[in-house]
Amino acid sequence: MTVSPHPAVTVLAGPTAVGKGTISTYIRDNYPQVWLSVSATTRQPRPGEVDGVHYFFVGPEKFGELVNDGEMLEWAVVHGQNSYGTIRTKVEEAVAAGKRVLLEIDLQGARQVKENLPEATFVFLAPPSWEELVRRLVGRGTETPEEQQRRLETAKLELAAESEFDVTIVNDDISRAANELVTLMGLTPHAR
Ligand code: 5GP
Repeated sequence: MTVSPHPAVTVLAGPTAVGKGTISTYIRDNYPQVWLSVSATTRQPRPGEVDGVHYFFVGPEKFGELVNDGEMLEWAVVHGQNSYGTIRTKVEEAVAAGKRVLLEIDLQGARQVKENLPEATFVFLAPPSWEELVRRLVGRGTETPEEQQRRLETAKLELAAESEFDVTIVNDDISRAANELVTLMGLTPHAR
């Protein structure tokens, strides 16, 4: 396993429906030592999502201002719909405070972080197989069939990007994969 010499910032990316969100939730709940970046997004909150905890829910106007003012470390329109971005100063402050920082973002964003912060560690979260990825995307039932199709097309391109990453973690089991991630970040994982 190749690990970059600067573990302060870790970027977790991977194809749609691979379970990045589930892994981040697991880490938020089980590893308070990890400073999980809260992204800004133009999408509407889902039931149970809290502003400032899961995302900063901002309107398109405010999002545009953040981009124009150079406040975003990276940002992207994901699935051709909503904009998502990482607020630079918040990440910088966390790094300065000695925190272990985790960014859970899409592939386009990961590529921008590689430009802006090449010393970060880049982790690709992979599904156990293509069939399993399809099953997870269809199974969660949150998207229309057209949207599922669109996301599967995106997922194919995203899977091809694995070689751009420092490390691959296979999401075969949430706590196992999360433990592998925190170990990589220099923390001691909890016993399972
Ligand atoms: P969801 O709307 O399901 O919470 O997230 C959709 C996608 O947006 C996920 O693939 C997630 O990784 C990505 N995402 C969340 N926050 C950011 C961000 O700050 N930047 C980028 N580039 N992608 C993000």
